[in-house]
Amino acid sequence: MAAEALDQLIRLLAKLPGLGPRSARRAALFLLRHREGLMVQLAGALRAAAAEVHPCSLCGNLDGADPCRICTDPRRTSDQILVVEDVDDLWAMERGGLFRGRYHVLGGTLSALAGIGPEDLGIERLLGRIERDEVAEVVLATGVTVDGQTTAHYVAERIARLAERDHPVRVTRLAHGLPVGGELNYLDEGTLEAALRARQSVA
Ligand SMILES: [Zn+2]
Repeated sequence: MAAEALDQLIRLLAKLPGLGPRSARRAALFLLRHREGLMVQLAGALRAAAAEVHPCSLCGNLDGADPCRICTDPRRTSDQILVVEDVDDLWAMERGGLFRGRYHVLGGTLSALAGIGPEDLGIERLLGRIERDEVAEVVLATGVTVDGQTTAHYVAERIARLAERDHPVRVTRLAHGLPVGGELNYLDEGTLEAALRARQSVA
């Protein structure tokens, strides 16, 4: 029988994405065998990240500063916003240095099934930024899933209504050719760059 602390460790590890009970046991063993070199350092890194890393109140990116370093970077243009589902999609764009505007992280997609509505995705916050920062273009880069498409359609519609009563905003989508059901963060940089360069206006 494993000790209580070990049981607890395995139970928690098994909650990580991609890890079942079997791989959680393997990971726990590995950690215990690399106690000083890895386990203690990992414990410290977890504690520090939990205390210091938070969502940016403007864009939803995860960072140690709020607003995040992307939102406050003066070299980036504030008149373009790229809308992504999640922070790892933002990271995928940033890895390739593909985009020099700012981001808006929805934190998911609209989903009737999961009970996720516009208010859960910070869409009002996005509309507020568009007005305040006089954003000229919003690039919709949600996934090519049913929920991702529904969300993009909804956001485009809300922006169109906004644009009618104020300044015009160009709404674009990443070019087609992305694999169906594909998520941004699984795409290589070349594919992402091509999709961004060939982005198309939403009617
Ligand atoms: Zn930010």
